[in-house]
Amino acid sequence: MAGDIFANIIIDISHEKVDRPFQYRIPEHLRDRVDIGVCVQVPFGRGNTPRKGYVIEVTDEPNWDVDKIKEIISVQDDIVSAEDISLRLAAWMKRHYGSTMIAALKTVLPSAKKQKRQVRKFVSLCASTEDATALYNECIRKKQKARERILKELLGNPDERIPYEFITGKLNVAAATLKSLEEKGIIRIDSEEYFRNPKVSASGRYSDKVLSPDQQHIVDTVRKDYDLGKRDTYLIHGITGSGKTEVYIALIDDILKRGKQAIVLIPEIALTYQTLMRFYTHFGDRVSVMNSSLSPGEKFDQMERARTGDIDIIIGPRSALFTPFPNTGIIIIDEEHESTYKSENMPKYHARETAIELAKLVPDGACVVLGSATPSLEAYYRATTGEYKLFELNKRLTGGTLPSVEVADLRQELRMGNRSIFSLRLQELMDEKLQKEEQAMLFINRRGLAGFVSCRGCGHVFKCPHCDVSLSEHRGGKLVCHYCGHEEIRPKICPKCGSKYVSSFRAGTQQIEDEVKKFWPKARVLRMDADTTRTKGSYEKILSAFANKEADVLVGTQMIVKGHDFPDVTLVGILAADMSLYAADYRASERTFQLLTQAAGRAGRGDKAGNVVIQSYQPDHYSIVAASAQDYGSFYNEEIAYRDLLRYPPVSHMMSVQIQSRDEKEGMELATRLRALMEQQKASGAVFIGPAFSAISRINDVYRLNVFAKLDDYEGLVRLKDVLEGYIRQLEDMGKLRYVTVQFDFDPMNGG
Ligand code: ADP
Ligand code: ZN
Ligand code: ZN
Repeated sequence: MAGDIFANIIIDISHEKVDRPFQYRIPEHLRDRVDIGVCVQVPFGRGNTPRKGYVIEVTDEPNWDVDKIKEIISVQDDIVSAEDISLRLAAWMKRHYGSTMIAALKTVLPSAKKQKRQVRKFVSLCASTEDATALYNECIRKKQKARERILKELLGNPDERIPYEFITGKLNVAAATLKSLEEKGIIRIDSEEYFRNPKVSASGRYSDKVLSPDQQHIVDTVRKDYDLGKRDTYLIHGITGSGKTEVYIALIDDILKRGKQAIVLIPEIALTYQTLMRFYTHFGDRVSVMNSSLSPGEKFDQMERARTGDIDIIIGPRSALFTPFPNTGIIIIDEEHESTYKSENMPKYHARETAIELAKLVPDGACVVLGSATPSLEAYYRATTGEYKLFELNKRLTGGTLPSVEVADLRQELRMGNRSIFSLRLQELMDEKLQKEEQAMLFINRRGLAGFVSCRGCGHVFKCPHCDVSLSEHRGGKLVCHYCGHEEIRPKICPKCGSKYVSSFRAGTQQIEDEVKKFWPKARVLRMDADTTRTKGSYEKILSAFANKEADVLVGTQMIVKGHDFPDVTLVGILAADMSLYAADYRASERTFQLLTQAAGRAGRGDKAGNVVIQSYQPDHYSIVAASAQDYGSFYNEEIAYRDLLRYPPVSHMMSVQIQSRDEKEGMELATRLRALMEQQKASGAVFIGPAFSAISRINDVYRLNVFAKLDDYEGLVRLKDVLEGYIRQLEDMGKLRYVTVQFDFDPMNGG
């Protein structure tokens, strides 16, 4: 029948079933109410039993015999179960970030098949010791080796339950042998269900700290809002050690007393033993931790424990957000600025925004608390516009003075004839600290290695005249912009100062390690980078070796900057601060400021005074000046002005449309058409950039191109995305997009 509309519906929602939807007709009177993410009643199976289903797609194309398609019975508007919430959240993510509903559902639903509960078996002695001993002697006589081994083990531990796997594995006793001993009444085999709980057992009760007035103010404000029925988003801007974690604990305490649950997101790299112990000692076995080393089965168990009320608090990275608590009351995101909170797969969601949406969907509403020493521009901007409530904590509560930070001008060093990678001041401080048997960390940021080109004489960096991001060096002596595709010839001499030292800076950690050994032959050096941390556990091994003072110097990439306290580190050297500054995207300054601030914060954690040397070719760049003064406010003011001027997020919004194609020409044609299609929509104030190749233009023979759209209104961008999605679906239906895929990324973190 013409004009009919159909809904694709999944029944019995689970991660594995989302690929197999059933189609139903939407009756006339329900058309306004049936949409993606909505829960409906449908007749199911031969007996047409009413079942609950979820709409994942609405279409005017029947996928089989129209006469046989049944009708939806009714719509259920209110959210009643954890599944309802997951569905709504997935629908929101699909629309807000651009992806298929199936990809969105697979993101929010706990993966891993509903597997059988893990059962653990134990073997223990059942017969009397005399009988068992008699049998044991008989086995020795008859040379029944396997029986001899197990009886010896059991007689040695008559009151113990020995794990079954130990006996079949280590003792190499066959299951049949055990069975026959069980039948004879010699041993007993017990089974026990258990949850694979990766929890560390807590020792000793936690002594509650009396909160400082600033901390108490935060807790009181949030609590009062909560009592008034307000569910807000709060940003705590506080340097490391200013007591944020203590505030989180107090807030969680309050939420638990209200019979609700808490989700705490912490970047994986910062999930350190010390941090976790603070939660365990306070909340005991009500807490569970999720991390990437858990198996899918273990993750599934955790989700079950959350669903059934066995735990109240989950701590984990991004995906812990989808823990199906019956009644989440608070979502905390620590180190809110971390780029790992943004997913790199479709849907490319950001945990911060998704948490805020989730907080609206949960039964009674939840509040969201963000914390950071260097808040993202997004979060701070929203705090200044009043969208979030801002709190500042600016005192270190225990130990350690703030380090003294100096900036070494590498242009000056070159002029003075110092061509080494260490400035004179850094050399001097290294001598001093090594003399005193204190430790040093030397840090290089490899992220910037995409190949920006600068003048080592004056610090001039070659930038795109249209986008104000650094140009990257390509083969054939070209400099290229990854936003708009602008190209120019790489000059041999600096247009500003005439120096011939124009080059891309490419020192790696290995090279630094070699240099350290050359300058300070007696120093013991550890290196931490992608190469030395490839095997499991090597990351922890290097860190603990350094903490145990098995080395004097730790050389590394940004890995060494985060989370760890080394009380004997009194010197931090940042060898080329500029490198991240000239990564080819609009967040480069922000990332540099964050890294420098964090790196500087590594020095002087104990009671000895710390020094930091930031080496730079552009020492007067605002992110370097502000980081050396540990001055977030002045950095923010400069950076937000720049974003405002060029209409970059958070002031405006940006969508990257990434086209991946095996055929370069076909990819470019589609990219050009998508841009034209967006332009036709005449969204007022929209700016389009590209197509241009991504920073890595080809991976595995697949070309990657981007078109960018900038618009003040996020919803406007979503509508442009919808138009493109519709067009792409048409092409797919016609079989024209076989070697091309298109992905969307809103307010991208890596510039596309
Ligand atoms: P952050 O999370 O901001 O880095 P923490 O909450 O870890 O800060 O606090 C830093 C240190 O100060 C910790 O050792 C913590 O135990 C201590 N601390 C926090 N709040 C208080 C307080 N009110 N009184 C005493 N010590 C505190
Ligand atoms: Zn120059
Ligand atoms: Zn450009």
